[in-house]
Amino acid sequence: MDFEKYKNEPEFKVALEEMFSSLDSSILNKKEYLDFDLFDKVIVPDRVITFDVKWVDDKGVEQTNKGYRVQFNNVNGVYKGGLRFHPSVNLSILKFLAFEQIFKNYLTTLPMGGGKGGSDFDPKGKSDEEVKRFCYAFMKELYPYIGADKDVPAGDIGVGGREIRFLYEAYKEYSGKSDCSLTGKPLDLGGSLCRTEATGFGVTYFAKEALKKYKNDSLKGKRVIVSGSGNVALYCLKKVTELGGKVVAMNDSSNAIYAPDGIDFETMRALKEDRRGRIKEYAELKDNVEVLPSREIWSVKCDVAFPCATQFELDENDAKKLIEGGCVGVFEGANMPCTIEAANLFIKNKVIYSPGKASNAGGVAVSGLEIEQNAKNEKWSFEDVDHRLSDIMSNIFNNIYACAKQLGDEYNLVKGANNYAFIGIADKMLKR
Ligand code: NDP
Repeated sequence: MDFEKYKNEPEFKVALEEMFSSLDSSILNKKEYLDFDLFDKVIVPDRVITFDVKWVDDKGVEQTNKGYRVQFNNVNGVYKGGLRFHPSVNLSILKFLAFEQIFKNYLTTLPMGGGKGGSDFDPKGKSDEEVKRFCYAFMKELYPYIGADKDVPAGDIGVGGREIRFLYEAYKEYSGKSDCSLTGKPLDLGGSLCRTEATGFGVTYFAKEALKKYKNDSLKGKRVIVSGSGNVALYCLKKVTELGGKVVAMNDSSNAIYAPDGIDFETMRALKEDRRGRIKEYAELKDNVEVLPSREIWSVKCDVAFPCATQFELDENDAKKLIEGGCVGVFEGANMPCTIEAANLFIKNKVIYSPGKASNAGGVAVSGLEIEQNAKNEKWSFEDVDHRLSDIMSNIFNNIYACAKQLGDEYNLVKGANNYAFIGIADKMLKR
């Protein structure tokens, strides 16, 4: 298919190319899909909502940001996907993320469709009061379009517990309702235990399953890189460490750190979550830690890598360095952190490579469990949710591995994930 008309939406174009270049000819030539114009229909969002967000900063000056919600496809359930607050946010990025989310959510086996939203607002360097005023102004525009039976946003980059609290309080105030219109809520507002940990734990469970299947091996004793140092990266660090791996490098957008003795979870968590500090400050807290430029992270030798920061952070050159360094597995915690060229290189060299839409589905899976708990008015224990998460990740791996193998390309989990999920969504669209 030709996606040239999307050349002004480069991230979305890449997502479409990634999906369609991996689909088997039996899907691309299926008569029922062609008769229904399914390939044209599946790439157009059901609805894109854009709005201005006017809010007042601490100096009393009115500021304006752009707000968005992309409701892409609800054939598998309510629109579901995070809100991102970051200066880089634009419609191309949100369409790419919402498109990915359709298939990711299908893989979890929970009834959720695909959506994504956010703003070019940057919470970094803003006071709590400014963030609060922004969140209220954002929700004032968004609340008519969301709700438990319609569209249920969650957090993403720049939207953590603090922002979700403000957004949910604003939703209740403006709508007069208290339904499950947002997930990732703080516990006192009906959030689920283990939601904070879910994406980072989930990608690690996925890696555990994959290493066992492909190599009859585990994370024990492995040297590991986890890029980023936000929500996903922190809890990946925690679970990898618990499973016996040693995380030797992490980064943020300014610097990377190399810690040959291993990075201590609690020190890093306190630095990042409690103090919102920069990663280079870790070197002041622990001995034998080297501070590097951020992108040098991929030059560190490792057995396993978890890119958990942002899209397209790992390119073909980085992939070459990882392969030369002996890396056997790359598991995406972020959304599309590896460029297509990097991913293809991993697959060609039989490095186990998992696309984010499969291996980072733990977050949205636990969001699905949060919806279920809210609907039943129940609160499940941490262990219960964690156990369900582990089972879901293991199922996702086994389903997409079986699909890749059936297509005669055992090391191609991109093909496995895309073909498995595409057929599921396409058949539901036909039935509808
Ligand atoms: P956070 O905002 O909590 O953290 C993002 C981290 O990435 C920060 O440490 C940030 O550093 C770093 N970062 C951003 N840009 C770069 C860059 N160019 N190079 C190096 N580091 C960078 O976000 P999350 O952890 O929630 O999300 C990370 C990724 O995971 C995103 O792709 C997101 O879409 C995806 N994801 C998240 C889920 C979740 O449950 N949170 C669920 C599924 C996917 P700095 O502080 O310097 O900006």
